[in-house]
Amino acid sequence: MSYVDELMDQVKAKNQAQPEFIQAVEEVLESLEPVVEKHPEYVDAKILERIIEPERVIMFRVPWLDDQGSVQVNRGFRIEMNSALGPYKGGLRFHPSVNLGILKFLAFEQVFKNSLTTLPMGGGKGGCDFDPKGKSDNEVMRFCQSFMTELQRHIGPDTDIPAGDIGVGGREIGFMFGQYKRIRNEFTGVLTGKGLNWGGSLIRPEATGYGAVYFAVEMLATRNETMKGKTCLVSGSGNVAQYTTEKIIELGGKVVTLSDSGGFIYDPDGLDTEKLTFVMDLKNIRRGRISEYADKYPNAKYTPVDPSMDHNPIWDVKADCAFPSATQNEINVVDADNLLKQGVYVVSEGANMPSTPEAVVKFINAKILYGPGKAANAGGVAVSGLEMSQNSMRLGWTREEVDARLNGIMKAIHKSCVEAADEYGTPGNYVNGANIAGFLKVANAMMDHGVV
Ligand code: NDP
Repeated sequence: MSYVDELMDQVKAKNQAQPEFIQAVEEVLESLEPVVEKHPEYVDAKILERIIEPERVIMFRVPWLDDQGSVQVNRGFRIEMNSALGPYKGGLRFHPSVNLGILKFLAFEQVFKNSLTTLPMGGGKGGCDFDPKGKSDNEVMRFCQSFMTELQRHIGPDTDIPAGDIGVGGREIGFMFGQYKRIRNEFTGVLTGKGLNWGGSLIRPEATGYGAVYFAVEMLATRNETMKGKTCLVSGSGNVAQYTTEKIIELGGKVVTLSDSGGFIYDPDGLDTEKLTFVMDLKNIRRGRISEYADKYPNAKYTPVDPSMDHNPIWDVKADCAFPSATQNEINVVDADNLLKQGVYVVSEGANMPSTPEAVVKFINAKILYGPGKAANAGGVAVSGLEMSQNSMRLGWTREEVDARLNGIMKAIHKSCVEAADEYGTPGNYVNGANIAGFLKVANAMMDHGVV
């Protein structure tokens, strides 16, 4: 049995109730087999054994009062995964599905993603099984204050800097920042994704979606193509989906789908800026459902989606490109077959691990341009890193400057993926490229730091 297989057996035995974590580790370790063969020093120093074990896991009670005065109790987490390259950095997710295994998978991915950005950031992730849907603003505020009352002991601008993720946008970051400032009596860049008036960076809200499109542009350029005229499927309708759509429209592509957990809309005419403004108001202000899009624009069709089906019909629509931007494992092997059948040959993942391992194998075997999340969606954390730099300097850069840096970082990530994939004998395989390039920097820093 190979070293990596043996290690995988240990990971499975030790983390039995954490299927997403096991899935994320397996994908990375498979890519790293040729690396450990070439570098026995990593094996001797047990770099892989250390990199899969979080440096620290914090789990805590979050009690709060709802609008009826009843006590509610949720479970909060922060996974401080790896600080070899810098302070822990990664988002907070508020969603009823949140558990230790999901956050460990996200924290693990974050380590490699942050390494790829070229910025000095370690990896972490956190969140809570709280469901913001249907809660009043006051309930969300009381919850966020309680969550931060505990979290503030463990984070800081040089230690651990959380940001947003599913269910955590500008409103939640504001409430948490306010509580941190009040308890610690410090105005500091302890969270990213802040409001512009109080330390936020221009382009941070846009960054993940824009970055996923910039990554697709780079992949297309390897075949001398551009986004112009491309028909695109986008899933989700939150932060990442909205700004992915905005950038595709700007570059002359056509977005024909959006979704939420209830179902998806198909608009054969494509979204334009006015329709996107409607979606942003619907989702960010009125907090409604995507089905309302089809009421407003009768040419569009809404299809409810039953999650117990063996496939998701959003991925069975004719298109060139797909930008999964909702959640993990939203593209299974049947969906992957449908996408390929419908002509999709570019997949740029805005979400984290949206494709199952079997779906990824289909994409790689079909030799399409497949950009895995840890490379394609790194633009969000990259601009978070730029927000930290601006906070440290107490300066704010212009929109153009941040956007140009974001574009430069996405190009650099694309280049390092391509080079690492070439060097290790799998040209065009962005999965191997991203895993290997992300790993090498972290591994070398861990070697320098000794056994810690
Ligand atoms: P939002 O909360 O803004 O939006 C999430 C969207 O996905 C909503 O439309 C939501 O629908 C849908 N969704 C969530 N869970 C499910 C589910 N189980 N089934 C179907 N649809 C679902 O989150 P973001 O846009 O920030 O995040 C989307 C993805 O991008 C996540 O995978 C996240 O980890 C990843 N990501 C985000 C970054 C960021 O900067 N925000 C950075 C890098 C990656 P509904 O409203 O019905 O729940």
